[in-house]
Amino acid sequence: MIQREEAQKRVLLLMSPATYRAGAFLSAARRLNLEVVVGIDLPETLAEYWHVPLSLDFKDIPASVQTIVEFARQHPIDAILSVDDSASELAAYACEALAIPQNSPQAAEAARDKLLMRRLMTTGGAPCPVFRPFALSDDPHWIATQVSYPCVLKPLRLSGSRGVIRADNPQEFVAAFRRLKRLLLMEGYGEQETQFLVEDFIPGFEVALEGILTHGQLKVLTLFDKPDPLDGPFFEETIYVTPSRLSAQVQGDIAHCVSVAASSLGLREGPVHAELRVNEQGPWMLELAGRSIGGLCSTILEFGSGWCLEELILRHALGEEITAVEREERAAGVMMIPIPRGGMLKAVHGVEEAKAVPLITGVEITAQMNHMLVPLPEGASYLGFIFARGDTPAEVEQALRQAHACLRFDIRREVPILHVVG
Ligand code: ADP
Ligand code: CA
Repeated sequence: MIQREEAQKRVLLLMSPATYRAGAFLSAARRLNLEVVVGIDLPETLAEYWHVPLSLDFKDIPASVQTIVEFARQHPIDAILSVDDSASELAAYACEALAIPQNSPQAAEAARDKLLMRRLMTTGGAPCPVFRPFALSDDPHWIATQVSYPCVLKPLRLSGSRGVIRADNPQEFVAAFRRLKRLLLMEGYGEQETQFLVEDFIPGFEVALEGILTHGQLKVLTLFDKPDPLDGPFFEETIYVTPSRLSAQVQGDIAHCVSVAASSLGLREGPVHAELRVNEQGPWMLELAGRSIGGLCSTILEFGSGWCLEELILRHALGEEITAVEREERAAGVMMIPIPRGGMLKAVHGVEEAKAVPLITGVEITAQMNHMLVPLPEGASYLGFIFARGDTPAEVEQALRQAHACLRFDIRREVPILHVVG
């Protein structure tokens, strides 16, 4: 058996099998010479079959906490991180049980449940849209008379804009309601007990803030502009570019807004990913998640001494002082490649051409060939990512658009297979 070096720290990384974030965290941990234990959301039989040492059921938090605590008795754990949204509450409960400083379970829940989030943000003074919860069992024609337009329907616990739909009038509302209901029932939510939100649609320019909290103090790691209009009816992410082109004053207002939101939720430690809209009235909080940016987007971020975002997060989780760390000065951007339509992905052409566009540092097609592509509002995965770096945000944005224009997607409509009985 390999003996653990005296100084080597052990980190538990919680992840769902489908996460995009595993590779970045695992390689950062390797660079830091950490011993990594991966806790995966897997049924026990599969875990045994695949020799996964720590299989967990993220939906059963008490049982999973117990498994982690028992594991930690034999193998002491120094930090626990959920690499994405899927286990942020479990991480908080497990840290509480093992007396590892982390966000409280209540704060972790508030960052996951959009209704609780809205209530706490409103009480805490973070500007956010007027909202109302309704039940899936309510009559949509009745709800349609209770809300104002334009509005946004939104599930409480999905992510990646799944199920988020804009409606401009009662007729669109009823259609959107049916679509959201179908999605939630398909995801296993019950009609009787499941709520969703209806919010005022906030017009404006959207930004995303990547930050890290230490004892409740927010350090802004980077602010991204989202230069493509996100007006609905669905809200597919595309381009993120940093540094932001907004004025220093507005950027300060955004950081302040996120600080207020974090303290309203009780978030105090670790990475935060915030999304806001900015208009003449100032910044509005859309959401605040207790995790780092999703997908492969973090690839473009680099901090002083060549650290990547995940390295910074791991160091912070182990108690290292990171407040002086700054992102490198160059502009950087990523495009989450939009899914042009649903169907079977047969081929992607033009990847080499796209890679050859000046300032492009990478093109990754993450969707699998011969698999179905499902666009929003139902879909849950990305087609791929384009990365760029340059001297100015404008030229980075331009390079991303040019590279995207090189790509051609061969997507076939699903053809039903006819069984002819002879
Ligand atoms: P998710 O957690 O699924 O990403 P969000 O609350 O972040 O859900 O919503 C996804 C996207 O939908 C946002 O990034 C934004 O573009 C749009 N959106 C959500 N709520 C509103 C709103 N009240 N007004 C305008 N746009 C909104
Ligand atoms: Ca979001």
